[in-house]
Amino acid sequence: MTGTVTPTAPSPTLSAADRCDRCGAQARVRVVLVSGDLLFCAHHAHAYQDKLRATAVDWVDETATLQG
Ligand SMILES: [Zn+2]
Repeated sequence: MTGTVTPTAPSPTLSAADRCDRCGAQARVRVVLVSGDLLFCAHHAHAYQDKLRATAVDWVDETATLQG
């Protein structure tokens, strides 16, 4: 899979301590909603993006910046 690299995040990034809200894997995407943040692994970010993109305030995708 080839992703597009969007340099959107000037703020601190996700760390190994951040976990996917759905499966507990290391989070690669932060979805900012008016009600708060959600963290997802790449798999679940993809799974939920159709639903969440419409309401997300911000969508920080760090799948391209984190290795391993
Ligand atoms: Zn997940």
